[in-house]
Amino acid sequence: MQLIKRGDSGPAAAEVRATLVSLGLLAEGRHAAPEDPQSVLFDAACDLALREFQQSRGLSVDGIVGPETWRSLVASRWRLGDRLLHRSVSDPVVGDDVHTLQERLLEMGYDVGRADGIFGERTEQALRSFQRECGLVTDGTFGPSTMRALRQLGRKVVGGRPQLLRESAMLYHAGPALIGKRIVIDPGHGSADPGWVVPDEHGQVWNESQLTFDLASRLEGRFSAIGVRADLTRGPDTDATPRERAAFANALGADVLISIHLDGHANPDARGLASYHYGTGSGTTSTIGERLASLAQREIVARTGMLDCRTHAKTWELLRLTRMPAIQIEVGYLTSPDDRALITDPSFRDTVAEAILIAVQRVFLPVDNDVKTGTLDVTALRAMQLS
Ligand SMILES: [Zn+2]
Repeated sequence: MQLIKRGDSGPAAAEVRATLVSLGLLAEGRHAAPEDPQSVLFDAACDLALREFQQSRGLSVDGIVGPETWRSLVASRWRLGDRLLHRSVSDPVVGDDVHTLQERLLEMGYDVGRADGIFGERTEQALRSFQRECGLVTDGTFGPSTMRALRQLGRKVVGGRPQLLRESAMLYHAGPALIGKRIVIDPGHGSADPGWVVPDEHGQVWNESQLTFDLASRLEGRFSAIGVRADLTRGPDTDATPRERAAFANALGADVLISIHLDGHANPDARGLASYHYGTGSGTTSTIGERLASLAQREIVARTGMLDCRTHAKTWELLRLTRMPAIQIEVGYLTSPDDRALITDPSFRDTVAEAILIAVQRVFLPVDNDVKTGTLDVTALRAMQLS
């Protein structure tokens, strides 16, 4: 090829210039008059921008467009999603889109080797693994459906925990309606382990395990009323380990697990509502779990006025071993006189059950169709199920 350098005009110089502009390395205008190609000069500013480009790409910085710089300029124009990406042995696909894909796969823990912008064998294998985790066709080709899955995951899923990918992909395939979903409700504690046991000022003794079972049953009833199957991890007089509860939900192929607990503290002033989702606190988090926890938290606070102790990431066994988005809600402190007055009131438990139901509905709604916290009621919900 003919070298392109400072002082050149014509279509090749115009293309170099346009590429540098599109990369944001060069300001538009001045010489860029498309109706007059002769006016497009490889000027001093263009020369400077090209050197910057060469430096950023590890090319020799000479301000001259030779074959290598030309290939890099062409490759730099591809954005992920512009074209299909696949492995070709005879003519490897090269470009910034491949580089972006490789970086995304690396972020999620798939081994592509070095992100070199070349669609090679390891990139193909990593892409196939990703597709398998997302329930896509594992053809090793990056096309629209893989692009959608990647976009759907956003940038939050990092750290290579394939289960988190499965969660998001599941939700993506599940669609917005609750009909056909399997919900598992987990009343905390049980017969052998009653959880917090606190007498009130009238001498009546309240068990966390009984109150969580009552609340779980109210929630189950609300799901049934709108035609959604909900199962409880334990009966009123039985018990189960976190591992058994997780295995139960996994075996059912549940879409969501909601665990209900009450908190307690030696200090009677400790009170408030908190929700928990899976996460290590160092970036790895269940995206959907986090969203569900935050929606449940907000809906309950909006409807009850409880003190908002916010949402938190935890690696508790139940959250870690479940294969679906799972949250644990601590509906107040049984040891707090204020919270206890609320939680021992059946109408309060109805309100909380309704708030959780709305939160689950909202997590399945596309973000665009989401509603304001505290505005959706059960009548509206039923209408949404029917439409
Ligand atoms: Zn508990």
